[in-house]
Amino acid sequence: MTDLAAPGQGQGEGARTEELAQRLAAVRSRIATAAESAGRSNRLPALIVVTKFHPAQDIRRLAALGIKDVGENRDQEAAAKALELADLALTWHFVGQLQTKKAKSVARYASAVHSVDRPQLVDALAKAVRNEMESSGRAPLDCFIQVNLADPADDDGTHRGGAAPADVPVLAEGITRSAGLNLVGVMAVAPLGVPAEPAFEKLAGISARLVAAYPAATAISAGMSQDLEAAIKFGATHLRIGSDILGSRPAVG
Ligand SMILES: *Cc1c(COP(=O)(O)O)cnc(C)c1O
Repeated sequence: MTDLAAPGQGQGEGARTEELAQRLAAVRSRIATAAESAGRSNRLPALIVVTKFHPAQDIRRLAALGIKDVGENRDQEAAAKALELADLALTWHFVGQLQTKKAKSVARYASAVHSVDRPQLVDALAKAVRNEMESSGRAPLDCFIQVNLADPADDDGTHRGGAAPADVPVLAEGITRSAGLNLVGVMAVAPLGVPAEPAFEKLAGISARLVAAYPAATAISAGMSQDLEAAIKFGATHLRIGSDILGSRPAVG
Protein backbone atom coordinates (compact mmCIF):
# COMPACT_ATOMS: atom_id res chain seq x y z
CA MET A 1 0.00 0.00 0.00
CA THR A 2 1.35 3.42 -0.89
CA ASP A 3 0.76 6.96 0.10
CA LEU A 4 -1.29 6.49 3.24
CA ALA A 5 -0.15 9.89 4.42
CA ALA A 6 0.11 11.76 1.15
CA PRO A 7 1.39 15.31 1.34
CA GLY A 8 -1.37 17.83 1.91
CA GLN A 9 -3.56 15.49 3.90
CA GLY A 10 -4.45 16.88 7.28
CA GLN A 11 -4.79 15.19 10.64
CA GLY A 12 -7.20 12.27 10.42
CA GLU A 13 -7.01 11.99 6.65
CA GLY A 14 -4.50 9.18 6.81
CA ALA A 15 -6.67 7.44 9.41
CA ARG A 16 -9.68 7.40 7.07
CA THR A 17 -7.53 6.05 4.24
CA GLU A 18 -6.26 3.34 6.58
CA GLU A 19 -9.83 2.47 7.58
CA LEU A 20 -10.89 2.23 3.94
CA ALA A 21 -7.84 0.08 3.17
CA GLN A 22 -8.75 -2.35 5.94
CA ARG A 23 -12.41 -2.56 4.95
CA LEU A 24 -11.46 -3.02 1.32
CA ALA A 25 -9.04 -5.81 2.25
CA ALA A 26 -11.78 -7.53 4.30
CA VAL A 27 -14.20 -7.39 1.35
CA ARG A 28 -11.54 -8.63 -1.07
CA SER A 29 -10.87 -11.54 1.24
CA ARG A 30 -14.59 -12.41 1.39
CA ILE A 31 -14.67 -12.29 -2.42
CA ALA A 32 -11.65 -14.58 -2.69
CA THR A 33 -13.13 -17.07 -0.20
CA ALA A 34 -16.50 -17.11 -1.96
CA ALA A 35 -14.87 -17.51 -5.36
CA GLU A 36 -12.82 -20.41 -4.04
CA SER A 37 -15.93 -22.16 -2.66
CA ALA A 38 -17.62 -21.65 -6.00
CA GLY A 39 -14.62 -23.12 -7.81
CA ARG A 40 -13.96 -19.91 -9.66
CA SER A 41 -10.78 -18.52 -8.10
CA ASN A 42 -9.49 -17.90 -11.60
CA ARG A 43 -12.52 -15.77 -12.52
CA LEU A 44 -12.91 -13.20 -9.78
CA PRO A 45 -15.80 -10.79 -10.27
CA ALA A 46 -15.06 -7.10 -10.85
CA LEU A 47 -15.50 -4.93 -7.78
CA ILE A 48 -17.49 -1.71 -8.16
CA VAL A 49 -17.42 0.42 -5.03
CA VAL A 50 -20.78 2.15 -4.57
CA THR A 51 -19.91 5.56 -3.11
CA LYS A 52 -23.34 7.20 -2.93
CA PHE A 53 -23.78 9.64 -0.01
CA HIS A 54 -20.03 9.53 0.73
CA PRO A 55 -17.83 12.51 -0.09
CA ALA A 56 -15.68 12.83 -3.21
CA GLN A 57 -12.62 12.81 -0.94
CA ASP A 58 -13.39 9.18 -0.02
CA ILE A 59 -13.38 8.29 -3.71
CA ARG A 60 -9.98 9.97 -4.02
CA ARG A 61 -8.73 7.82 -1.14
CA LEU A 62 -10.16 4.69 -2.77
CA ALA A 63 -8.48 5.61 -6.05
CA ALA A 64 -5.17 5.86 -4.19
CA LEU A 65 -5.87 2.31 -2.94
CA GLY A 66 -6.26 1.09 -6.52
CA ILE A 67 -10.02 1.34 -7.05
CA LYS A 68 -10.98 2.36 -10.59
CA ASP A 69 -14.68 1.42 -10.77
CA VAL A 70 -17.17 3.42 -8.74
CA GLY A 71 -20.97 3.31 -8.62
CA GLU A 72 -23.50 6.02 -7.89
CA ASN A 73 -27.30 5.99 -7.89
CA ARG A 74 -28.32 9.65 -8.17
CA ASP A 75 -27.40 11.73 -11.19
CA GLN A 76 -26.98 15.05 -9.44
CA GLU A 77 -24.52 13.65 -6.93
CA ALA A 78 -22.69 11.52 -9.48
CA ALA A 79 -22.31 14.35 -12.00
CA ALA A 80 -20.79 16.65 -9.37
CA LYS A 81 -18.36 13.99 -8.16
CA ALA A 82 -17.33 12.99 -11.70
CA LEU A 83 -16.54 16.64 -12.47
CA GLU A 84 -14.59 17.12 -9.25
CA LEU A 85 -12.63 13.89 -9.76
CA ALA A 86 -12.07 14.19 -13.51
CA ASP A 87 -8.29 13.99 -12.98
CA LEU A 88 -8.58 10.41 -11.66
CA ALA A 89 -9.85 8.82 -14.89
CA LEU A 90 -12.31 6.61 -12.99
CA THR A 91 -14.94 4.41 -14.58
CA TRP A 92 -18.39 5.57 -13.42
CA HIS A 93 -21.22 3.03 -13.15
CA PHE A 94 -24.76 4.36 -12.79
CA VAL A 95 -26.69 1.85 -10.66
CA GLY A 96 -29.89 3.63 -9.61
CA GLN A 97 -33.32 4.09 -11.09
CA LEU A 98 -32.97 6.59 -13.89
CA GLN A 99 -35.46 9.12 -15.24
CA THR A 100 -35.29 9.62 -19.01
CA LYS A 101 -34.72 13.36 -18.53
CA LYS A 102 -31.43 12.54 -16.77
CA ALA A 103 -30.07 10.49 -19.70
CA LYS A 104 -28.27 13.49 -21.17
CA SER A 105 -26.38 14.18 -17.97
CA VAL A 106 -25.52 10.53 -17.31
CA ALA A 107 -24.14 10.20 -20.86
CA ARG A 108 -21.51 12.83 -20.01
CA TYR A 109 -19.75 10.78 -17.32
CA ALA A 110 -21.03 7.19 -17.08
CA SER A 111 -19.30 4.30 -18.82
CA ALA A 112 -22.05 1.89 -17.80
CA VAL A 113 -25.70 2.00 -16.73
CA HIS A 114 -26.76 -1.04 -14.67
CA SER A 115 -30.42 -0.06 -14.41
CA VAL A 116 -31.79 -0.14 -17.94
CA ASP A 117 -35.36 -1.31 -17.38
CA ARG A 118 -37.70 0.12 -20.03
CA PRO A 119 -37.75 0.94 -23.75
CA GLN A 120 -38.11 4.71 -23.26
CA LEU A 121 -34.90 4.72 -21.24
CA VAL A 122 -33.10 2.75 -23.98
CA ASP A 123 -34.15 5.38 -26.52
CA ALA A 124 -33.23 8.33 -24.27
CA LEU A 125 -29.80 6.86 -23.46
CA ALA A 126 -29.09 6.01 -27.10
CA LYS A 127 -29.86 9.53 -28.23
CA ALA A 128 -27.84 11.14 -25.43
CA VAL A 129 -24.84 8.86 -25.94
CA ARG A 130 -24.80 9.44 -29.70
CA ASN A 131 -24.74 13.21 -29.09
CA GLU A 132 -21.84 12.81 -26.67
CA MET A 133 -19.98 10.53 -29.09
CA GLU A 134 -20.21 13.25 -31.72
CA SER A 135 -19.43 16.20 -29.49
CA SER A 136 -16.87 14.77 -27.08
CA GLY A 137 -15.85 11.45 -28.60
CA ARG A 138 -17.09 9.35 -25.69
CA ALA A 139 -17.16 5.55 -26.09
CA PRO A 140 -20.40 3.55 -26.42
CA LEU A 141 -22.33 3.02 -23.17
CA ASP A 142 -22.33 -0.43 -21.56
CA CYS A 143 -25.92 -1.39 -20.66
CA PHE A 144 -27.06 -3.96 -18.09
CA ILE A 145 -30.75 -4.86 -18.16
CA GLN A 146 -32.05 -4.61 -14.61
CA VAL A 147 -34.41 -7.46 -13.79
CA ASN A 148 -36.98 -7.52 -11.00
CA LEU A 149 -36.45 -10.83 -9.18
CA ALA A 150 -39.43 -10.57 -6.84
CA ASP A 151 -42.00 -13.30 -7.33
CA PRO A 152 -45.00 -11.50 -8.87
CA ALA A 153 -47.23 -13.28 -6.33
CA ASP A 154 -45.18 -11.86 -3.43
CA ASP A 155 -44.64 -8.50 -5.00
CA ASP A 156 -46.29 -6.08 -2.64
CA GLY A 157 -45.02 -3.01 -4.46
CA THR A 158 -41.77 -2.86 -2.50
CA HIS A 159 -39.79 -4.46 -5.29
CA ARG A 160 -36.40 -2.97 -5.94
CA GLY A 161 -36.71 -1.88 -9.54
CA GLY A 162 -36.17 -3.62 -12.82
CA ALA A 163 -38.03 -5.10 -15.75
CA ALA A 164 -40.10 -8.27 -15.52
CA PRO A 165 -38.05 -11.26 -16.72
CA ALA A 166 -40.46 -11.64 -19.66
CA ASP A 167 -39.50 -8.15 -20.87
CA VAL A 168 -35.77 -8.90 -21.11
CA PRO A 169 -35.81 -10.01 -24.79
CA VAL A 170 -37.49 -6.85 -26.06
CA LEU A 171 -35.10 -4.65 -24.07
CA ALA A 172 -32.12 -6.65 -25.33
CA GLU A 173 -33.28 -6.17 -28.88
CA GLY A 174 -33.77 -2.44 -28.34
CA ILE A 175 -30.29 -2.02 -26.89
CA THR A 176 -28.51 -4.06 -29.57
CA ARG A 177 -30.15 -2.17 -32.41
CA SER A 178 -29.24 1.22 -30.86
CA ALA A 179 -26.01 2.72 -32.11
CA GLY A 180 -24.03 3.91 -29.10
CA LEU A 181 -25.28 1.23 -26.70
CA ASN A 182 -23.53 -2.07 -25.86
CA LEU A 183 -25.60 -4.85 -24.32
CA VAL A 184 -23.33 -6.40 -21.69
CA GLY A 185 -25.73 -8.44 -19.54
CA VAL A 186 -28.19 -8.38 -16.65
CA MET A 187 -28.34 -6.76 -13.23
CA ALA A 188 -30.49 -7.31 -10.16
CA VAL A 189 -30.90 -6.37 -6.53
CA ALA A 190 -31.99 -9.28 -4.33
CA PRO A 191 -35.61 -8.82 -3.17
CA LEU A 192 -35.99 -7.73 0.46
CA GLY A 193 -36.99 -10.25 3.07
CA VAL A 194 -36.33 -13.44 1.13
CA PRO A 195 -33.14 -15.52 0.86
CA ALA A 196 -30.74 -14.18 -1.77
CA GLU A 197 -29.58 -17.52 -3.17
CA PRO A 198 -32.80 -18.54 -4.97
CA ALA A 199 -33.11 -15.00 -6.33
CA PHE A 200 -29.59 -15.08 -7.77
CA GLU A 201 -30.16 -18.59 -9.10
CA LYS A 202 -33.17 -17.21 -10.98
CA LEU A 203 -30.99 -14.37 -12.30
CA ALA A 204 -28.43 -16.92 -13.54
CA GLY A 205 -31.21 -18.60 -15.54
CA ILE A 206 -32.33 -15.29 -17.02
CA SER A 207 -28.70 -14.57 -17.92
CA ALA A 208 -28.29 -17.97 -19.59
CA ARG A 209 -31.34 -17.33 -21.79
CA LEU A 210 -30.00 -13.89 -22.73
CA VAL A 211 -26.55 -15.30 -23.57
CA ALA A 212 -28.16 -17.96 -25.78
CA ALA A 213 -29.53 -15.15 -27.95
CA TYR A 214 -26.70 -12.61 -27.44
CA PRO A 215 -23.47 -14.55 -26.81
CA ALA A 216 -21.47 -11.45 -25.82
CA ALA A 217 -23.95 -10.38 -23.11
CA THR A 218 -22.37 -12.50 -20.37
CA ALA A 219 -22.18 -9.98 -17.53
CA ILE A 220 -24.15 -10.50 -14.31
CA SER A 221 -24.17 -7.47 -12.00
CA ALA A 222 -25.30 -8.84 -8.63
CA GLY A 223 -24.12 -8.87 -5.05
CA MET A 224 -24.06 -6.10 -2.45
CA SER A 225 -22.51 -5.97 1.01
CA GLN A 226 -25.05 -8.38 2.50
CA ASP A 227 -25.20 -10.97 -0.24
CA LEU A 228 -21.97 -10.97 -2.22
CA GLU A 229 -21.28 -14.64 -1.37
CA ALA A 230 -24.66 -15.76 -2.77
CA ALA A 231 -24.09 -13.66 -5.90
CA ILE A 232 -20.63 -15.14 -6.51
CA LYS A 233 -22.03 -18.64 -6.07
CA PHE A 234 -24.50 -17.94 -8.91
CA GLY A 235 -22.06 -16.40 -11.35
CA ALA A 236 -21.87 -12.67 -10.60
CA THR A 237 -19.29 -10.97 -12.79
CA HIS A 238 -19.72 -7.49 -11.25
CA LEU A 239 -20.24 -6.86 -7.52
CA ARG A 240 -21.64 -3.53 -6.30
CA ILE A 241 -20.38 -3.00 -2.76
CA GLY A 242 -21.06 0.12 -0.68
CA SER A 243 -21.44 0.04 3.07
CA ASP A 244 -19.02 -2.78 3.88
CA ILE A 245 -16.23 -0.69 2.34
CA LEU A 246 -17.31 2.87 3.17
CA GLY A 247 -19.27 2.35 6.36
CA SER A 248 -22.91 3.19 6.86
CA ARG A 249 -24.33 5.96 4.75
CA PRO A 250 -25.28 9.24 6.35
CA ALA A 251 -29.08 9.45 6.68
CA VAL A 252 -30.81 11.11 3.75
CA GLY A 253 -31.42 14.70 4.79
C1 LIG B 1 -26.46 1.24 -2.64
C2 LIG B 1 -26.46 0.21 -3.70
C3 LIG B 1 -25.54 -0.84 -3.66
C4 LIG B 1 -24.55 -1.04 -2.52
O1 LIG B 1 -25.23 -1.54 -1.41
P1 LIG B 1 -24.50 -1.89 -0.02
O2 LIG B 1 -25.52 -2.69 0.71
O3 LIG B 1 -24.18 -0.59 0.63
O4 LIG B 1 -23.29 -2.68 -0.35
C5 LIG B 1 -25.56 -1.76 -4.70
N1 LIG B 1 -26.44 -1.65 -5.72
C6 LIG B 1 -27.33 -0.65 -5.80
C7 LIG B 1 -28.28 -0.62 -6.94
C8 LIG B 1 -27.38 0.30 -4.79
O5 LIG B 1 -28.29 1.29 -4.86
